[in-house]
Amino acid sequence: MQVTPKIIAGPCSAESREQVLSTAKQLASGRIDFFRSGIWKPRTRPGAFEGAGNVALDWMLEARDKYGLKICTEVANPEHVEAVLKKGFDMVWVGARSTANPFTVQEISESLKGVDIPVMIKNPTNPDLKLWIGAVERFQNNGIRDISVIHRGFSVYEKQRYRNNPNWQIALDLKKELPNMPLLCDPSHISGRRHLIFDISQKAMDLHYDGLMIETHCNPDKALTDSKQQISPKELFELLEKLKLRSRGEFMDDQLREFRLELNEIDRNLIDLLKKRMDISEQIGSYKKDLNRIIFQKSIWEKAFMDNVNNALDVNLSEEFASQLFKLIHQESIVKQSKIFLNPDEED
Ligand code: PEP
Ligand code: MN
Repeated sequence: MQVTPKIIAGPCSAESREQVLSTAKQLASGRIDFFRSGIWKPRTRPGAFEGAGNVALDWMLEARDKYGLKICTEVANPEHVEAVLKKGFDMVWVGARSTANPFTVQEISESLKGVDIPVMIKNPTNPDLKLWIGAVERFQNNGIRDISVIHRGFSVYEKQRYRNNPNWQIALDLKKELPNMPLLCDPSHISGRRHLIFDISQKAMDLHYDGLMIETHCNPDKALTDSKQQISPKELFELLEKLKLRSRGEFMDDQLREFRLELNEIDRNLIDLLKKRMDISEQIGSYKKDLNRIIFQKSIWEKAFMDNVNNALDVNLSEEFASQLFKLIHQESIVKQSKIFLNPDEED
C-alpha cells in the first residue's frame, strides 16, 4: 500500500497581499493539502520583519476563496487563536519556540478548549522528547482530538550541515510512544538551505512520515524571512514529483521495518562518532610528532581500555565484545597516527 504524504506549503511569512495571493495561485495549480503562511513571526532577535500581522488574516481568506485552498497559520498566544478562529481558519500550528515553553502551550491549548480544529505541534527548539510529548498531552487534556506533530529539527550552537539538527532518533522515539499520531517533517527549517530539502524529504518518506511542510514563496530570493530555505511553487512540484514513495506494505512486517530504520539511524550516528574520534586521534598524532614523542603510550592506553570495558559491562555489554571493539578502534587510531608520523609532507 502506498500512502500519499500530506503536503503543507506556503511562504514562511505573509508579506503582502500580492505575495500571498501570487504564491497561493501558483500552488493551487498542483496538489497541496494546506496553504500556510506565518502571520505573526517569532523572530529570534527583535528588529527583523515580524509578519504582516492581523491584516494578513484576510489575505489568507482571500487565497482560500479564490483558489480553493485550506489555510493554516502559527498561533503563539490566545489572541492569535481568537483571531484565527474568528476568521475560520482550517488548521493552526504551534511553533518550536512556543512548544519549548509549557506555560505558552498551556495557554494556547486552553484557548482552544471546546474547538474542533486540527492542531499541529512542532518539536521544541531543544532536543527534549518529553517536552514535545508534554505539549501534545496539554492539547489532548483540553479536548483537542485532531493533533499531528511536525519534526523541524533542534537548535545547535555551531551550525554545521543543517540549520537545525534533525536528531531523527527523537522523532522516531516519539513515533514509538505515539504510534497513531501523524508525523510530518519540515525540511525547510531543518536544512535552512534549499538544496538540502529534497534529501531530507526523501529520508522522511523512507522513515514513514505522513507528510511534509515546505516553505514555498513566489519569489524565494526576495523573501523577507528565511529566504535561503524557501523554494518556488514550481520547484516544490518538481521535488514532489521526484520523491520516491516506497510501498509501505512490501515488508513482511511494518514493526520490523521500523526497527531496521532505527538501527540504520543509530549506525549512521556511530559512523559519525567514529569519524570524530579518528579526527581527534590524528590531531594527537600531529601533536606528538611536533613534540617528538612516540605514538603508543602503554599505561594511558591500558587505563582508557579498562575504563571502556568497565563502562560497557555496566550497561550489560559483554566483556569480549567490548574488548574486541575497543582494540579494533585503537588499532585504527594507531594506523592513522602512524601515517602522520611517516608522511614527510604532513604539515601539522
Ligand atoms: C515557521 O514555520 O515559519 C516557523 C517559524 O517555524 P519554527 O517554529 O519551526 O521555527
Ligand atoms: Mn520560516
